[in-house]
Amino acid sequence: MVKARKYVVEKYFDGIPKISDYRIVEYELPSLRNGEILLKAEWISIDPYIRAYNRMNKVPYDQFSFQIGIVQESLDPNYPVGTRVVTHKGWCDYTIVSDKKAPVKDIPNDILYKLQDLKGLSPSLGIGALGMPGATAYLAFLEICKPKKGETVVVTGAAGAVGSIVGQIAKIKGCKVIGFAGSDNKVNWLEKELGFDKALNYKTVDVQTALKSAAPNGIDCYFDNVGGEISSTIMAQMNKKGRVAVCGSISSYNADPSQMPKATIIQLPVILNELKIEGFIIWEWFDRWFEAFDQLTAWIRNGQLKTPEHVTDGFDNLFEAFIGMMSGDNFGKAVVKV
Ligand code: NDP
Repeated sequence: MVKARKYVVEKYFDGIPKISDYRIVEYELPSLRNGEILLKAEWISIDPYIRAYNRMNKVPYDQFSFQIGIVQESLDPNYPVGTRVVTHKGWCDYTIVSDKKAPVKDIPNDILYKLQDLKGLSPSLGIGALGMPGATAYLAFLEICKPKKGETVVVTGAAGAVGSIVGQIAKIKGCKVIGFAGSDNKVNWLEKELGFDKALNYKTVDVQTALKSAAPNGIDCYFDNVGGEISSTIMAQMNKKGRVAVCGSISSYNADPSQMPKATIIQLPVILNELKIEGFIIWEWFDRWFEAFDQLTAWIRNGQLKTPEHVTDGFDNLFEAFIGMMSGDNFGKAVVKV
């Protein structure tokens, strides 16, 4: 018998999540049945949708997120002991899963795949740059923004998991890249370490003026990770036929759903400049994740793509890692090493 632990969300979050919204449950796992494997978590992902999807689930529910697990016992010959896999089993230390061997129906909950051989790279990349956030950056940016060499790209949430990759892909594609992030240290890091042409601290600059000076010829592509007023200001400075990928709206994830913040109306600049604004949801693109991983891996190996991570140690610190990420502690992808 294996003793397992998992975080169960017992109360709906009200504003910033509290540790008392969770209960850590200890329980015994049953013996494996044919086709099942027992996993021990190695890396657990910390992502903003943990907050955003809270009210889409009925409490109590097991805290979901991506996880790299290592097979400990196996009654499935395709997953021998020692195999590393990616699942969406979230904040648990041991779990039993099975490969349904049928098309994934309930993305992301049914997800189970072997982690590709990363040949010396950290397995944690499988929940970061070579996992859901990397696929998001690659597919949303290239398919919606369709950047062209010489164009100007703006990214919000630029120092995070998705934004830091979008900005670097934009550089690879020959664009001028401007990123917004929430501290001077992040701004310096984006310019000096990740090669952004300009980075701006959205908490201290006047966004409209700073952007006019950073992008005097206007903006062609906007990758929106945060939503809200800053996005209206950015969209008002876009060029004719500009493209906007709406990927996230983290500025309002902690807001009361009945009192969402208001932002400046953007319809007139959208009309006059014939902007194309498209929402993106990664679960609809699962059939192309591995194409993204192949290209992202090649860029990592040839030194064109850096994959910074913000690592928190220990299963007991998952909640602190989550709150830290929501308040901007992370440079790059937030992960927990179990
Ligand atoms: P990040 O690694 O970027 O972490 C979240 C960051 O958000 C923090 O570090 C913080 O950085 C920033 N932030 C927090 N509060 C605010 C605020 N009020 N205004 C502006 N920024 C804020 O997370 P991810 O890269 O994983 O995700 C980025 C966005 O992409 C999120 O909105 C997420 O929901 C979305 N997403 C969407 C997907 C889709 O399929 N549509 C898939 C994956 C992610 P700072 O210090 O800069 O404030």
